[in-house]
Amino acid sequence: MSTLDDDLTGLQSRRNFLATLRQQVNFSNELQAPLALLVVDIDGFAKLNAAHGYEFGDQALKYVAQHLRSIARAQDYVGRLGDNRFGLLLTRIMNQGHAELAVQQVLRHLEVPFQGSKGTVRLNATIGIAVCPQHASHPEFLLRQAEKSLELARETGVRWLTPPDTQQDEGFSEFWDLEIELDGAIQRGEFLLNYQPKLQARDLRPVGAEALMSWPHRARGNVPPDLFIPIAENTGQIRPMTMWALNTALRHASTWRHSSPLSVAVNIPADMVARDDLPDMVENALRLWGTPGVELVLEITERSLVSDPKQSFRTLARIRELGVKVSIDDFGTGYSCLAYFRDIPADELKIDQSFVQGMATDTASADIATLIIQLAHRFGLTVVAEGVEDERTLALLRERECDVVQGHLFAKAMRLDAFSQWLQQGAARVG
Ligand code: C2E
Ligand code: CA
Ligand code: CA
Repeated sequence: MSTLDDDLTGLQSRRNFLATLRQQVNFSNELQAPLALLVVDIDGFAKLNAAHGYEFGDQALKYVAQHLRSIARAQDYVGRLGDNRFGLLLTRIMNQGHAELAVQQVLRHLEVPFQGSKGTVRLNATIGIAVCPQHASHPEFLLRQAEKSLELARETGVRWLTPPDTQQDEGFSEFWDLEIELDGAIQRGEFLLNYQPKLQARDLRPVGAEALMSWPHRARGNVPPDLFIPIAENTGQIRPMTMWALNTALRHASTWRHSSPLSVAVNIPADMVARDDLPDMVENALRLWGTPGVELVLEITERSLVSDPKQSFRTLARIRELGVKVSIDDFGTGYSCLAYFRDIPADELKIDQSFVQGMATDTASADIATLIIQLAHRFGLTVVAEGVEDERTLALLRERECDVVQGHLFAKAMRLDAFSQWLQQGAARVG
């Protein structure tokens, strides 16, 4: 096992597997020998973990890994692509039929129930296939084709699918390279946290700031979070990045000087809200960097509550027991949680920018914003409007008794030193 292998299963790690994929796709193109990629996703894995515990889940993953290894021939490769996702790379195959045979083998192996320490379960998998050169002749696009087939298989309720037979390598862009470069970016100290003020709507007193990540890249310039966060979420790199952000934001906030207590908000990705180790991570960060005058806020999107509300609610409740506030970000854009809204363990709602920015010109947006404010107040939550860019919108928000505002009208996200300075000047301005 090399250092690039996955600790749990001993299979190639995602990074290693992707490097192999690139190399093998090149060979495949040169030698004109087809190659197939199978992406194997274990179904209902979050539920299995919730029901039997993580140890049992880990045993199940090892079990699957072992079967995949036994299916692989000497010239094939097996890797772990994500929590419960595996890749099987079949090189030098004859045709697509060969890949389909391998799929049947995987499914047949999994028909044998898995016996773990806490009982016996039947594991199911959904599989996406893509063949080079039939479906793509670029490694990143091949992976995307296989993953797309997987999603489609899942949506349509079949066990496996191949993409339609159209070879088109469009859109492989910079995505692939960015993923590789993201690896180790934390260790190289490449990320920055910038702070955007949140102000009380009534008198524009600062109440805190939201930490926003940026990645000033040596060669590419500033890479926007909208580009790199989704990649990091896909690859699992978001976990160490979030831990870094939590610790750094708390450390920075402990240096802020202001006449009244301030909060610091950190964005938490959906995937981590449903996991039960988030409260421990938060508690550790607080133990290291927490200071009495600083309140920690976790901003989570409405979407993170949808996949497993019960588990997420439990996690959030534990987090609130630590004295940490929970804020629901981008509110109004998700598949709304209205049905269980009153049970959400949250303290704050952030109206999505799209409604805020439409308020002054579009009555539908203004109506939605008004409704969200009323709803939040009805359940005792603070309401924040983000993306406030003009005085007119501020006036409308004040009329509707929105509590807190954030946006370019007041300040953009700033480096730590600039924010500290802004705080001092702001304090002088407000008096
Ligand atoms: P978000 O959490 O909804 O953050 C608000 C975004 O709106 C930020 O963009 C902010 O700079 C921008 N913004 C604030 N006021 C205005 C305004 O008045 N006008 C306009 N046009 N934009 C405004 P940013 O920094 O590009 O971040 C984009 C998204 O990336 C964030 O949306 C968040 O989803 C994600 N993100 C950023 N930092 C982190 C992080 O540390 N962790 C995670 N998981 N996600 C992050
Ligand atoms: Ca946010
Ligand atoms: Ca937002």
